[in-house]
Amino acid sequence: MRHNDSYAKLVNEFMSKLEDTMAQVSEENTTVMANLREMKEMANKLSFRADSIDVFNLNYFFKYIDELISAKTLENYVACRFDMKRFSVINHQFGRKDGTRILNEFVVKLQKGLGNDGCVCRVQGDTFTMVFRKERLSYVTGYLSGTKIEVGYKNKKKAVLSAYAGYYEIEGEKTAEEIMDRIGMAWNIAKHVQRVPYVFFDEELLSAVENEKWVESVFEEALEQEEFLVYYQPKVTLKNYRLVGAEALCRWKHNGEMILPYRFIPVLEQSHLICDLDFYILEHVCRDLSQWMAEGKPLVKVSVNLSRVHLGDMDILEHVLAVVDSYSVPHEYIEIELTETTTDVDFRELKQLVIGLRTHGFSVAVDDFGVGYSSLNLIREMPWKILKIDKSFLPVGNEEDDEEIQKKVMLKHIIGMAQNLGLECIAEGVETAEQVTILKENNCYLAQGYLFDRPLPVEQFIERLEELM
Ligand code: C2E
Ligand code: MG
Ligand code: MG
Repeated sequence: MRHNDSYAKLVNEFMSKLEDTMAQVSEENTTVMANLREMKEMANKLSFRADSIDVFNLNYFFKYIDELISAKTLENYVACRFDMKRFSVINHQFGRKDGTRILNEFVVKLQKGLGNDGCVCRVQGDTFTMVFRKERLSYVTGYLSGTKIEVGYKNKKKAVLSAYAGYYEIEGEKTAEEIMDRIGMAWNIAKHVQRVPYVFFDEELLSAVENEKWVESVFEEALEQEEFLVYYQPKVTLKNYRLVGAEALCRWKHNGEMILPYRFIPVLEQSHLICDLDFYILEHVCRDLSQWMAEGKPLVKVSVNLSRVHLGDMDILEHVLAVVDSYSVPHEYIEIELTETTTDVDFRELKQLVIGLRTHGFSVAVDDFGVGYSSLNLIREMPWKILKIDKSFLPVGNEEDDEEIQKKVMLKHIIGMAQNLGLECIAEGVETAEQVTILKENNCYLAQGYLFDRPLPVEQFIERLEELM
């Protein structure tokens, strides 16, 4: 959708009427002609200049692209959308009036750097679009990643401004709207998802964004229709290879297709919808456990993954208790798997949750230990019961290269440290007999992995359970 479509149309009509009039007035009529020229200039400003900032507006961006399309030179250009990082801080520091002057200076300087071939256009507030020749790309990325701006005469005010930007190196025939969509997507990922200074649009991004939109649009109905299934992956003891527990892993069966977690969990985590899914899985696990109890089947502890997105929820513990207790499942049969956190706030909330769960008799595991930001504080300060060693610490093949030797040393010490601190260790992603040998050598007797079982549909898992009878 074009910005201010009807307004732009009106302006176009006005301009063509003005040009018709100019064509009818004789050049000798100098005063009238001069007035008409001035009116044209004013009309141009009114229609294509931004309010309060000395650059163009979005109408001009669309007009510019349309002209490049007509000239068939679009592929020589890059389009970009950006907004300023923490501009509210600048406004707060310098006051709104000087904040606007600083912003003005920033974009005017940027426009100058483009030469005569390109434009910077204000969308609204501190959000802009621009189009420029591909040769200017490194200048623009450098400029938007951080530029010092000074305004005023005496006591100059100085600020370093930077932006979140989405770029699209235009390829093929595209409409102005398609270009606008692409830079919007890239900008959104830079600002809200990856939190990096810039992202370039590519087709992979398009399919990721399409997948994201699709997941979000069908999720609620899929949940209502119970399209999500619990698969159970056995955990075994390496002493006699018997099943001693399981991890509940989510699968999504949609129109006959089985969709794996990597396609929907990260999307749901962004929008917090993951919380609904996690509780759905917890509820289904409790329902299964209570049914197995009623049928006199052997029971084992089942672990459920809770996303760290839950950490913002003050009532998370009560929520878990309410679900588990509504099915009268003894707490010792439920384990909660949590992953490490990255921020201090999350760390405190994670600690509260781990303590709370343990106080109520649940087992709690730190999942994927060793990837990401695992810190020793995480282990020292929280009363975990289990440490799940990530598969990246398991040796692959028999080669004794530096990396493999390093992994072995780390594996040995992680297991030793965990056990000395009173934690149980389980290795996940065990795929080979060699890995089993190494785990045993290091005194780790719990494992989960394809070597024993894949995540199993509930009926097959029950068969595995019944072997215990
Ligand atoms: P995770 O919790 O670390 O689960 C272990 C993953 O490793 C599972 O992938 C499992 O299928 C896979 N795996 C098990 N054994 C092996 C092996 O021998 N080799 C290899 N290469 N992989 C193995 P899956 O089921 O695709 O799940 C991926 C991740 O998605 C999980 O990692 C977990 O973080 C997340 N996830 C799955 N279900 C849920 C859920 O209900 N809630 C939340 N919040 N996250 C979930
Ligand atoms: Mg897990
Ligand atoms: Mg894991």
